[in-house]
Amino acid sequence: MNKNSSNTMALAPNTSNKRETVCIFGTGDFGRALGHKMIQSGYRVVYGSRSTQISNLIPKDAEVLSHAEAAQKAAIIIIAIQRQHYNFLTPLAEILHGKVLVDISNNLKLNQYPESNAEYLAQLLPGSRVVKGFNTVSAWALQSGALDASRQVFVCGDDVEAKQMVMNIVRALGLTPLDKGSLLAAQEIENYPLQLFPMWKFPMFLSLGLTVFFFFYCLALDVIYTYIYEHRNFSFFIAITIPNRVCPVMALVLLALVYLPGIFAAIIQLYKGTKYRRFPNWLDKWMLCRKQLGLIALAFASLHAVFTLVTPLRAFVSWRTGKGIISQALNNKTEPLNNTNAWISDSYLALGILGYFFFVLVGITSLPSVSNNVNWREFRFVQSKLGYLALVLCTAHTLVYGGKWFLSPTAYKWYLPNIYILSLIVPCAVLVVKFVLIFPCVDRPLTKIRQGWERNPKHSE
Ligand code: NAP
Repeated sequence: MNKNSSNTMALAPNTSNKRETVCIFGTGDFGRALGHKMIQSGYRVVYGSRSTQISNLIPKDAEVLSHAEAAQKAAIIIIAIQRQHYNFLTPLAEILHGKVLVDISNNLKLNQYPESNAEYLAQLLPGSRVVKGFNTVSAWALQSGALDASRQVFVCGDDVEAKQMVMNIVRALGLTPLDKGSLLAAQEIENYPLQLFPMWKFPMFLSLGLTVFFFFYCLALDVIYTYIYEHRNFSFFIAITIPNRVCPVMALVLLALVYLPGIFAAIIQLYKGTKYRRFPNWLDKWMLCRKQLGLIALAFASLHAVFTLVTPLRAFVSWRTGKGIISQALNNKTEPLNNTNAWISDSYLALGILGYFFFVLVGITSLPSVSNNVNWREFRFVQSKLGYLALVLCTAHTLVYGGKWFLSPTAYKWYLPNIYILSLIVPCAVLVVKFVLIFPCVDRPLTKIRQGWERNPKHSE
């Protein structure tokens, strides 16, 4: 079943029948775009404007009248005007009495005013039925029809009937209304378009910080160290070699960071003996951005796959291969195939391919269009079980690749461990603790706690 509630159901626009008249105050960008879309959907549109002169920009078939005249022609009035001009509505209070006023306004800053624009409008005109809506749709999207990614229209208001009338218009325009409740939700709806990837901020900054750290770590060990102590210039490593070290390391670390908060949560629940105590704020926030961390990790893994595929094309690799062949020819001696090395290299590749496959599967299932089509149990199976499988395979892929270096003294340039050793710390810690958590003696009490059992039921915060 679709996880969204029934009121999110979109209906195709009906252009066959003439619908009621809707009034729009303001002939600006949004008023015109919305009017145009409404006329296409069969509504009669009458504009209330300071100037009744018809300009070329006004949609054909629309009337332009004074505010008072236009308001008398419709039961629903869309206020497509900035909040700072709302004062002009006060003298119209009598005409607007009982009418549904749709506040579509946005602000320039988050929480710019103490109350939302819709609540402000309702205070100015207490006799009108104010509904908030349409503010998350842009004039450009309405006009160009590019609404595929943002069909959802948040609607809220205290008058249920008025809200239904607005939601009917939303549906008639081919959009999807989402009832957010009373007018108290207006502030949240108004803040929504001002947020810039809110759930992505922490994962982005974390990824950026870690990428910069790992990049300079590799630069120091692979380029600067080699230049100082071996007098060799490997600065071209900056283009492919170093990115192809940083990407898999980032993918693995971020994938482990997706599962680490779940481990912390389990430990906290076991320690407190209840699931009814709140997690620390940092853990709550971390849990909420796991999907974003996972998707960034998948992007790094994909880059690693592409960088690896171009390896045979690189001048450095051809030079090294050629050097090996010539040295064998000069010595008149063919190196025998090292079976152990062949096994290691094939297992490393196979583990990487399988790990990437499950990683992609988990990533795809986290996208709303896919997750809406699986039930909760299926979603959890893919995200948890297959996600852990991807983590195990990717960790094994790194272990098999870098394992041989861990004990070699040359891996510790400037007494620093190789980047692959660093990348394994978090994933191995997550997997070891997870392994302990699935032991029946730990798993049983944890499952009971997650089903509502409390060790000390009387305890309260
Ligand atoms: P706009 O192009 O500046 O148009 C605003 C209109 O308000 C003007 O064309 C004017 O219409 C009217 N107006 C201006 N000063 C007025 C005053 N002193 N008294 C009465 N009416 C006045 O702005 P817009 O882009 O259409 O935005 C209108 C509202 O929609 C804003 O609150 C905005 O936050 C919201 N919104 C816009 C978009 C978007 O993509 N543009 C998206 C979502 C929400 P007349 O000349 O006809 O009187």
